Amino acid sequence: MNKRISSPKTMQDVIRQHQFTLKKSLGQNFLIDENILNNIASAADIDEESYVLEIGPGAGALTQVLASRGKKVIAVEIDQRLEPVLKDTLQDFDNVSVHFGDVLKLNLHQIIDQECPPGVPVKVVANLPYYVTTPILMKLLTDGLPIKTIVVMIQKEVAGRLQAEPGEKSYGSLSIAVQYLAEPKIVMTVPKTVFVPQPNVDSAVIRLDIRPEKKVKVDDETFFYKLVRASFAQRRKTLMNNLINNLYDKTQKEQLLEVLEQTGIDPGRRGETLTIEEFARLSDVLSHK
Ligand code: SAM
Repeated sequence: MNKRISSPKTMQDVIRQHQFTLKKSLGQNFLIDENILNNIASAADIDEESYVLEIGPGAGALTQVLASRGKKVIAVEIDQRLEPVLKDTLQDFDNVSVHFGDVLKLNLHQIIDQECPPGVPVKVVANLPYYVTTPILMKLLTDGLPIKTIVVMIQKEVAGRLQAEPGEKSYGSLSIAVQYLAEPKIVMTVPKTVFVPQPNVDSAVIRLDIRPEKKVKVDDETFFYKLVRASFAQRRKTLMNNLINNLYDKTQKEQLLEVLEQTGIDPGRRGETLTIEEFARLSDVLSHK
């Protein structure tokens, strides 16, 4: 095989030739549109210096594009049945190394240390399996890996949540967790027709640039995350009610009112109106009580 598998016909030929059956449970919706594949690689600025970590290479359509543009591609795939397929579709590339296993369980530090020169920044590029998008993104963002940029295809609705601002309907604890660590930007929305099989939901490509410094400084990160989650537990309730129901209890109401006054936050506001800076301020006072 020395041709690109970036069309419905070439992808179907490969799948048929290897008698591969796609598994819905693993989020196996493969890309079959050359423009989209190229746009994803361009959105990540992949060039001959780039070290790329691809999660879920599938049959290798995106891997081929990344390998032809980048210096090296390290691909992590859960489905061992794809080994002969990838051997075939990637046979023309000597700069790809495929590791089989669950990205959530694999030691990515070890893999990156083994595959890349020390200290080089790594770009993550992937058409992610939608059933496990959030845990994968959180692992990539919080594991202290040398990742600077992440460009991923995800469910459009989730991309909206990652980028949402205070006051928007989709703003929530995920928006804050991600924006605390990275700067998200939706690059494009993608129709269902560019996948085989077609997923049930629309998709979007999002780029996350990891911040050199976290967006806000907080004294106790664990408490900050707890506070944010509690504040969004019941979206229709006020901040005060959510805090009483999910983090404190009724006996602490007066104390909470005092803290909210001290931090300049109206207790009648809903969590979804608070900026990340306001959550940080509140977290710092409450975590020292
Ligand atoms: N990159 C290919 C493409 O764009 O055509 C395939 C993308 S498909 C949406 C997601 C891929 O992720 C599948 O190949 C699936 O087997 C793999 N996958 C699913 N769960 C995974 C996990 N936990 N760890 C690593 N790979 C996983």
